[in-house]
Amino acid sequence: MSKPVDVVIVGAGVAGLVAAREILRRGREVVVLEARDRVGGRLLTEELCDGVTIEMGGQWVGPGQHRVLALIEELGLSTFPTHTSGRHILELGNSRSTYTGRIPLFNPVAMADVGSAQWALRRAARKIPLDAPWTARGGDRLDGQTFATWLDRRLNTNGGQAIMRMATEAIFAAGPQDISALWALFYIHAAGGLDALINVAGGAQQDRIVGGSQRIALTIAEELADRIVLEKPITDIDWTSGDVVLYTAAGTTHRARRVIVAIPPPLAARIRFKPALPTDRDQLVQRMPMGRVIKINVGYPEPFWRADGLSGQANSGSRPLGTVFDNTPPTGSPGVLVGFLEARHADFASKLSPQERRSTVLDDLVAYFGESAANPIAYLERDWAAEEYTRGCYGAFAAPMALTRFGPALRTPIGPLHWAGTETATAWAGYIDGAIQSGQRSADEVTRALSRAQ
Ligand SMILES: Cc1cc2nc3c(=O)[nH]c(=O)nc-3n(C[C@H](O)[C@H](O)[C@H](O)COP(=O)(O)OP(=O)(O)OC[C@H]3O[C@@H](n4cnc5c(N)ncnc54)[C@H](O)[C@@H]3O)c2cc1C
Repeated sequence: MSKPVDVVIVGAGVAGLVAAREILRRGREVVVLEARDRVGGRLLTEELCDGVTIEMGGQWVGPGQHRVLALIEELGLSTFPTHTSGRHILELGNSRSTYTGRIPLFNPVAMADVGSAQWALRRAARKIPLDAPWTARGGDRLDGQTFATWLDRRLNTNGGQAIMRMATEAIFAAGPQDISALWALFYIHAAGGLDALINVAGGAQQDRIVGGSQRIALTIAEELADRIVLEKPITDIDWTSGDVVLYTAAGTTHRARRVIVAIPPPLAARIRFKPALPTDRDQLVQRMPMGRVIKINVGYPEPFWRADGLSGQANSGSRPLGTVFDNTPPTGSPGVLVGFLEARHADFASKLSPQERRSTVLDDLVAYFGESAANPIAYLERDWAAEEYTRGCYGAFAAPMALTRFGPALRTPIGPLHWAGTETATAWAGYIDGAIQSGQRSADEVTRALSRAQ
């Protein structure tokens, strides 16, 4: 059994690391136990080709994400803008259009339909209380339907439906049929609106972090040094009496006065608690699955699409690789396109062999950007659903009736056990910014509880 500490944190993602840093600053002893052999969780930078690194997990930050922008500055990191100049590509059904700016010049009837649905979304989302969406007026009705049902009632054209389905898959990595309408509206409000979620300039995809987003985690980890212990997956947490005892799959045992579980809800559901957690908590985490994404970065000698007047941004309602951006490093070389196989497309693509998947991805890039896309110099993919300690992404979402029946169990501490992770945030839930908020909130809770106990 290792030396007892004030707080053990389960998970060295951004949420756990931020919580540890805050707790340490307040003079408490803290240890972070991480399952993987690295820190960062859903933030991961890998080598794409010789000396060139690229983000394989979360990567963008944007205006309105005050916490992550402040943390980037505090840690001495910097950002650079996502490349956006040139024409973007939109494919729907058999039609393809290119456009600049934010609004595609596509079927005006469908665009008007989408415009009025977005107006309704804005109004409805604004009414959802961010700290307690389950108390929303009419919350039962919203939570008793999927986001698809909610959208269907407000969309009158096939084109409008295809666009909103595409947007939903890009934002949630799940289909509108999967998600509770109440969760979707909460999530949109928590980000400050749908535009903030989908836009590059002025939105969540505006900027990248020089050297990759995992530097946030790596820099905090340097500060915390040997307070982080890697390769220690927590399997059991015993909070029967007094101190909490944590058991790892590595055979080690750890003791603390308080514990912050900073992992996604479906992973927290796999830990065995003794005594068992109150049933509301257990029922909630049974109803919060992860979305599903395979992220792919493809390298070329240069960003050839720019010479053709294209931005590298492409969206399609039917191609597996439905979302693509220019992900070239700030030096301008090599050229990199990042694509996402999301939701049903990830279901399909995960069943292919690696060679078949690569062909599918390259075929789609050729269809968007021409024959030059057929011959990459580098290809890197990551199926986040296949990661034992993530099991999907971008984040977890709530299925119908999860929030109104069990929502308060999302954050409410249970005895000495506290909950963090981006899914518990009230602003930018699902994003790096939300993970930071949850780390700060759980650190506040824990230090207050420890002070009260003295
Ligand atoms: C492909 C992809 C693209 C994304 N794009 C963006 C983006 O552009 N912008 C943005 O803001 N966000 C993005 N996100 C989401 C963002 O990465 C996450 O919201 C954020 O990193 C979550 O941090 P977290 O600390 O809450 O959780 P995690 O990062 O999941 O951290 C949890 C940690 O706990 C560990 N763990 C799990 N189980 C155990 C256990 N039993 N014992 C011990 N440790 C355990 C895990 O290994 C992990 O390190 C993206 C995510 C992915 C995967």
